[in-house]
Amino acid sequence: MNNTILIVDDSKHVQRQIEIFLTPEGFSRFSFANSAQEAFQLLELDGKNEKCEKCEIDLILMDINMPGTNGVEACQKIYTSGHLKHIPVIIITAEDTNERLKQAFEAGATDYIRKPLNPVELIARISSVLKLKKEMDDRVNREKELLRLTQILEETNAKLQQANEMLHHLSRTDSLTGLANRRFFDDLFQSEWKRSIRVSKPLSILMIDIDCFKKYNDAYGHQKGDECLKQVAKALQNSVRRQCDIIARYGGEEFIALLADTDKKGAITVANAMQSNLAGMNIPHKNSLAGSVVTVSIGISSIVPDITSTPEMLISAADKLLYLAKYEGRNRIKY
Ligand code: GH3
Ligand code: MG
Ligand code: MG
Repeated sequence: MNNTILIVDDSKHVQRQIEIFLTPEGFSRFSFANSAQEAFQLLELDGKNEKCEKCEIDLILMDINMPGTNGVEACQKIYTSGHLKHIPVIIITAEDTNERLKQAFEAGATDYIRKPLNPVELIARISSVLKLKKEMDDRVNREKELLRLTQILEETNAKLQQANEMLHHLSRTDSLTGLANRRFFDDLFQSEWKRSIRVSKPLSILMIDIDCFKKYNDAYGHQKGDECLKQVAKALQNSVRRQCDIIARYGGEEFIALLADTDKKGAITVANAMQSNLAGMNIPHKNSLAGSVVTVSIGISSIVPDITSTPEMLISAADKLLYLAKYEGRNRIKY
């Protein structure tokens, strides 16, 4: 049996007697204390190391009548220490007044045994107290394990939620430029369209296309082309101020802007800002037919939508104007 029993008794004879009774029952690990003070030292309850968590004692047999601190007081001190209160204490007493026993139980004792010791009673009580302690320990361990598993579950859930949010973000974002992707744009456009009908407010669409981008790739390579797309995206994004203005990568080197509550005049202002922000970046494009730096052409269409118009009509109008801008020589805004 692996249990360690601490025997606290001022009589070496009683200590020895208990050991002799218990050894044939398989108990082999004993600690002895001749007084409550000695017991406190063994339990590291002597004031020097009160926080000792790792106590090896499984059960304490405690004499009541001892010089100095008596067994009831000792029991109380162990019980109120907090970190040792899980160790059961069996009081061993020659006195059997009810008052004394009441005090012992109030002090936290688990059970008591009368002197002179009867080996059958001693073993039966020790076994039942240890069984109870084991059940309590098992329960505490199960609760700890449950707590640990709950924490793991909570952490896993938090990670899963993060991953879901990331996935949600990725599903709406163009990976190269970080702008909204076309699918996300289409969803937003549908709801913004309906909202504009409800509030009878204008809505503007800007179709933006990089000029001679095929030549750019041919001249500088596809990787530089990708860098250029990122720069253009940044210039476009920096041209809008309002939270509800959406800029998306519509495909290849084509972008689209959706400006809610914005009429044609406002949209032209934004388009001009886009061109001048991009011009400010001064990205060389030696083979462009529209100039010596990277430029864009922009088609603008605006509408106060009603039930007779459709989102596709607005996009188609912007698209036609974009190609008119290309036709007229690129690097210009048509509306
Ligand atoms: P225009 O001025 O008439 O618009 O001429 P353009 O060359 O820009 O138009 P075109 O449609 O002929 O070619 C578009 C080019 O954009 C072709 C393709 O190689 C390039 N492109 C599209 N998507 C990407 C991309 O993700 N990365 C890079 N590097 N190039 C792209
Ligand atoms: Mg182009
Ligand atoms: Mg194009």
